[in-house]
Amino acid sequence: MRHVAIVGSGPAGYYTAETLQKAEDIAVDVIDRLPVPYGLIRTGVAPDHQSIKAVSRRYEGTALTDNVRFVGHVSVGTDVTIDELVDLYDAVILATGAPNDRPLDIPGATLPGVIGSAAFVGWYNGHPDFADLAPSLDAPGVAVIGNGNVALDVARILAKTAQEFTGSDIVAHARAALEASAVRHISILGRRGPHQIAMTPKELGELGHLERASPRVDPADLPPEGDDAMLEPGMRKSVTHLRSFTANPVAKPVTIDFDFFAMPVAIEGDGRVQRVIVERTRLDADLRSHGTGETYAIDAGLVISCIGYQTPPIPGVPYEHGRGRFASDEGRILPGLYAVGWARRGPSGTIGTNKPDGARIGEMVIEDIGRGAGKAGRPGLDALLASRNITPVTFRDWRRIEEAEVAAALDGRPREKFTSVEAMLAAIGR
Ligand code: NAP
Repeated sequence: MRHVAIVGSGPAGYYTAETLQKAEDIAVDVIDRLPVPYGLIRTGVAPDHQSIKAVSRRYEGTALTDNVRFVGHVSVGTDVTIDELVDLYDAVILATGAPNDRPLDIPGATLPGVIGSAAFVGWYNGHPDFADLAPSLDAPGVAVIGNGNVALDVARILAKTAQEFTGSDIVAHARAALEASAVRHISILGRRGPHQIAMTPKELGELGHLERASPRVDPADLPPEGDDAMLEPGMRKSVTHLRSFTANPVAKPVTIDFDFFAMPVAIEGDGRVQRVIVERTRLDADLRSHGTGETYAIDAGLVISCIGYQTPPIPGVPYEHGRGRFASDEGRILPGLYAVGWARRGPSGTIGTNKPDGARIGEMVIEDIGRGAGKAGRPGLDALLASRNITPVTFRDWRRIEEAEVAAALDGRPREKFTSVEAMLAAIGR
């Protein structure tokens, strides 16, 4: 038997496992620090995007194959080290994603009320690390920094009514806080223009159909309509949505203002955030933004920075600091150590982008490990964890946690997620 460990049970991890399990003599252990699998599918993808989350059924199919095992509630770095895994397995694949926010490096960014999207998204999705975030929703203004799909997710979730969360798996604490929210003006700040957004058409289109919120774009920010012809079709569709938002006559109680050519340069407030100082920008020939010196203030009681993510470094594992990902040669980090998904490429692309990535790294590993080196693999890990009194959560345990979550569902939601590791473990009697 050949032995492979995958660290991280999100999309990249399970797509890689799917390829590896096709080679019948490879035992795959998918290790996660949480007692529940699926990473970003559970705690990153927006709760009102259930059709995207449905891909977890595919990962379940992989998890239930004979050679794939879920090893939950085991922290690599604390419970077991990378070096120990490399000793035990023919290959170790880091599929740890990019869970840390890129830092917002401006004065005032550490004021209370300034948070990153990882925290905010984790909060409404029930990630145990962020269940206690309690974002301040008591002021009318919120500034959302960034022009990617995460900024859109965040603005949409802030704008929705409780009714609009029917059928979503938003956690109860977030639904209740959003229902009581005083937020009325959401400003989405983009440092470049409408032709430089990183938003996709389906997600932009959704903003046009919200019950109590209307998106608005200043027509003066848009280039002449003829310029849209040179855009690739998806981008052209996105910009068409933005154009439709310029003619928004509907007076709804919540506004979502797209503020383009708007670069946050400072955050101010007395003990907590009260306003964002924004500098107007212009673009150079290479489409890079530069401040014009003209500044203005936006009132905000909450600032959510959605400017991309980073993979946390692991001591001893080569890392590209500029790009916030492991340093690898197409996925090979060191002999026996690989990266896949956002940990390899950086945080770009959709969930589906991880499918070919996982297939490629899976095939690369199968080729590299040859017949295997007779490593201890799975029994070796079990012995090591037992010697440390660590009992992993199995996939069968997870199914019991899931059943308990589904049984607890309220208000038309498909499940009531447990938001602490303790509650997850309690569901399996630990
Ligand atoms: P992203 O797509 O990389 O967008 C980041 C945005 O932040 C860009 O608009 C960027 O502007 C801006 N930015 C970066 N640094 C900044 C700074 N210092 N000040 C102001 N703005 C700054 O990242 P993301 O939105 O986090 O999304 C990550 C990935 O997940 C993307 O591939 C996204 O498509 C995907 N995703 C998909 C979905 C979906 O399919 N429904 C949902 C969520 C996320 P510049 O362009 O000027 O650098």
